[in-house]
Amino acid sequence: MNTLRQYQVPLQRYMAMMDLQERNERLFYKLLIDNVEELLPVVYTPTVGEACQKYGSIFSRPQGVYISLKEKGKILEVLKNWPERKIQVIVVTDGERILGLGDLGCQGMGIPVGKLSLYTALGGLRPSACLPITIDVGTNNKKLLDDEFYIGLRQRRATGEEYAELLDEFMSAVKQNYGEKVLIQFEDFANHNAFVLLEKYSKTHLVFNDDIQGTASVVLAGLVASLKLVGGTLGDHKFLFLGAGEAGTGIAELIALEMSKQTKSPIEECRKKIWLVDSKGLIVSSRLESLQQFKKPWAHEHEPVKELIDAVKTLKPTVLIGSSGVGQTFTQEVVEAMASFNEKPIILALSNPTSQSECTAEQAYTWSEGRAIYASGSPFPPVEYNGKTYISGQANNAYIFPGFGLGLVMSGAIRVHEDMLLAASEALASQVTQENYEKGLIYPPFTNIRKISAHIAAKVAAKVYDLGLASHLPRPSNLVEFAESCMYTPTYRNYR
Ligand code: NAD
Repeated sequence: MNTLRQYQVPLQRYMAMMDLQERNERLFYKLLIDNVEELLPVVYTPTVGEACQKYGSIFSRPQGVYISLKEKGKILEVLKNWPERKIQVIVVTDGERILGLGDLGCQGMGIPVGKLSLYTALGGLRPSACLPITIDVGTNNKKLLDDEFYIGLRQRRATGEEYAELLDEFMSAVKQNYGEKVLIQFEDFANHNAFVLLEKYSKTHLVFNDDIQGTASVVLAGLVASLKLVGGTLGDHKFLFLGAGEAGTGIAELIALEMSKQTKSPIEECRKKIWLVDSKGLIVSSRLESLQQFKKPWAHEHEPVKELIDAVKTLKPTVLIGSSGVGQTFTQEVVEAMASFNEKPIILALSNPTSQSECTAEQAYTWSEGRAIYASGSPFPPVEYNGKTYISGQANNAYIFPGFGLGLVMSGAIRVHEDMLLAASEALASQVTQENYEKGLIYPPFTNIRKISAHIAAKVAAKVYDLGLASHLPRPSNLVEFAESCMYTPTYRNYR
């Protein structure tokens, strides 16, 4: 830690951590686990975003498997080259939408590598059981195509049938090589592919999309927890999103599902309490024809509204969620409007990295006169306002996916079901203590994350067993203890 802290530039810390992971994996995980709050922003967002942007020029050794269009017809052979045989979790990207940074092509590899480090550090999956994969179908990023250090195929992205065939071969090869129980996490695919891939492969494989489902689960947990501060049930609230992509519609759907379970009313009715604004304005029924499939359920009856501020003033939501990837869109006027008709407006600025955040923690607290319940995607330092210190929460997917994955792996799940996501949300929300609430926090601190992950894993596994989707039998009697016993811990052996 002493060596790391001497680096002032976050990217240098990232590079030092990657070197350490290569040189002494056990020490890398020991450091990450013991200093999780300090090192999470180094190995994950926001620093990993910069690392991906510069991946070609900081590249020293490959840290996963690259599968390019050139490997078509021999993907199984490529997978067999990986030295580890027993793989439990694969994180795969095609690099088309890395965080809020757009198409970074093959340089998106930083994301699967970073996420899998968190699977191990926070969820206890064995490092050797984790496999990062980048599918290289080219990039439409002109800057990268012209960059002499770009490490991927120098061509524009393959699309349509060519893309679908490569993905299909990949998915079959993974199942053939690693069996039915390997978890495949889709990561940072552009939304026009993400929804299609998830829908298609959820019937035949154990797949999970963290951008859609993991985000939804972590945000729902924060909302359930925030009800303790603002009162009421989910059904008593009105939600407005800026951004109707993977994150926005994924969260919206999970909120509607939970609301529907709680109120026993049809999900179509619950969706009506949730409104979304995309780059063309409020999603309303008159736009139905031209909307992408995944936006259609959100096209409610309303006259067209172009700007977010007008949507806020007309709909008067109690919860405002930013998931557009565009920074500084929750302006002073927007936050002040939220604070004018809500005693405690819930404001979640989810876009990553920090530069894309809809508003900073300081802006949210200042403009709402300290009344906002605020959480963000990337972390912000504590804020002093009117003599009081405000600590904002981080709606970080890292709360959910490591424990969620552990729950699937330890029960030998063969399919993901949305009830498992709800179980994960409830488990996370239940870990927020009274002491956390008193500080205005809607997420527990990361320091206890392995304990939190074990609880999430136990609840997820319980759901897997209840749904008859578990293959690890018999069901262990104490699932929390079982989860803890399954977790990898970076200790050195004693030699006599
Ligand atoms: P996406 O590309 O699927 O969706 C983006 C959406 O924003 C689209 O609906 C688009 O129409 C809309 N949009 C774009 N520009 C807009 C504008 N100027 N005004 C209004 N809407 C606009 O992306 P995504 O996967 O949903 O991710 C969006 C952002 O959320 C990213 O920055 C990502 O890093 C962040 N995110 C955060 C978390 C988290 O905090 N836990 C999790 C996932 C994603």
